[in-house]
Amino acid sequence: MNIAIIGAGVTGVTLAHALLQDGHHVHVFEQRQTAAEEASYACGGLLSAGWASPLAAPGMVWDMLYPGSSPTAIRMGQWPRPSDAAWLLRWWMHTSRKAHAAQQGAALALTQLSLRELARTNADLGLEYETTEGLTVLVRSAHDRERIDPYLQWLNASNVPHQVGDATFGLSKEPALNRQTPIHTAIHLPRDGVGNCRQFTGALKQVVQERGAEFSFGHTVRAIRPTETGVELDVQAQRTTSLAPLTFDTVVLCSGVASLGLLKPLNIQLPLNQLRSHSLSANLRDPMDAPRSGVVDSLHNIGITRLGQRVRITGGQALGSASAAQHKGVLKQLYAALFDWFPGAAHMSSVQTWSGQTPVVPDGLPVLGATALPGVWLNIGHGLRGWSMASGSARVLADQLVQRDTGIDARAFSAQRWHKAP
Ligand SMILES: Cc1cc2nc3c(=O)[nH]c(=O)nc-3n(C[C@H](O)[C@H](O)[C@H](O)COP(=O)(O)OP(=O)(O)OC[C@H]3O[C@@H](n4cnc5c(N)ncnc54)[C@H](O)[C@@H]3O)c2cc1C
Repeated sequence: MNIAIIGAGVTGVTLAHALLQDGHHVHVFEQRQTAAEEASYACGGLLSAGWASPLAAPGMVWDMLYPGSSPTAIRMGQWPRPSDAAWLLRWWMHTSRKAHAAQQGAALALTQLSLRELARTNADLGLEYETTEGLTVLVRSAHDRERIDPYLQWLNASNVPHQVGDATFGLSKEPALNRQTPIHTAIHLPRDGVGNCRQFTGALKQVVQERGAEFSFGHTVRAIRPTETGVELDVQAQRTTSLAPLTFDTVVLCSGVASLGLLKPLNIQLPLNQLRSHSLSANLRDPMDAPRSGVVDSLHNIGITRLGQRVRITGGQALGSASAAQHKGVLKQLYAALFDWFPGAAHMSSVQTWSGQTPVVPDGLPVLGATALPGVWLNIGHGLRGWSMASGSARVLADQLVQRDTGIDARAFSAQRWHKAP
């Protein structure tokens, strides 16, 4: 098949790799000058099946509406408008215990598949990018431990390999942790880890391009038109005003948050919203004072990761477009987490701040597969787990395109799950 991919972030490039392996002709269109310049640019790097920080879980809507009720609450970028009501109502419906359990199960299956696929890609291609093994979740107090008990029960029930211990155990996994900050419980997830998403995407793009995939950087897809035999795309090269119509058998949107604009004229029923999150990156001052791998502060759901000679702190989630005041508040929290856990780790003069947006739907699961429009497929909506889910999503889509068994039950991710029954 002749397949177009819109977007050269981590989901677009991993999909290009999977489709090429199946013998398809692949053409990737990317509006920026290189790969991984949007949400995949400075993400936390956590590659995790075991730290499940879902978008939709019991109590989350309450926590959002009553700031201060929970330090991990998702915020609204702005006060909800009447047009947000339908989305928020759907979100609330997906926060029931039953819905949450099903969503957690589906997300776990996809991330586990993804980590297996990523390991296979690493073994096959020997890509060079920064990685470390293991993830340690830190719980500060008995009260916080109570709050995360359902998570520990879920780890046990789902057979996710993990070890639970006290402060000494936590320090054995991450010896540079600040001894002044109390640790009540440490949970270690040996199968999870950290990887530099941007480096990986760039390295994989290189291989995929050498193996025959076409990449058109500085090219923006302006419109998608289904035709009788496939799809037509209007593509605009940078610094030109003309649109070149190009035809393909199929197009897959891996276009992140910009998918909202591309899908609107197509009238596809998909309740997409955007989620913004933030990161701080700084050069290491002394590697001995830095994390070995990935650490999560469970109180604020903040990740602290080691990426080569840098440390990155990520957190804060806001639905819709975040205000400047919120941005400042989140950055303050990220600095505080770094000083609490690894006070001597970073050269503070080298700090770079960043925020990125990803699309989300109310159940917090990605949207993978064929839409109701022939030839138009989606690989979007991964929220804050896109790096962890990219290789699995690519596998699922590549299998579905040739009607091969996907190995996991992918119905929960269907791009048509929002269609009303006739
Ligand atoms: C602060 C932060 C921390 C995160 N931490 C983690 C983490 O620790 N672990 C994890 O698993 N995930 C994490 N994520 C989530 C992860 O980064 C994203 O889910 C993932 O990068 C999404 O990749 P993508 O390829 O779908 O989107 P993007 O990287 O945004 O790529 C989409 C691409 O499409 C291009 N594009 C859009 N429209 C067009 C068009 N019309 N024509 C041509 N090109 C177009 C864009 O330019 C862009 O390059 C984090 C996200 C943020 C913001």
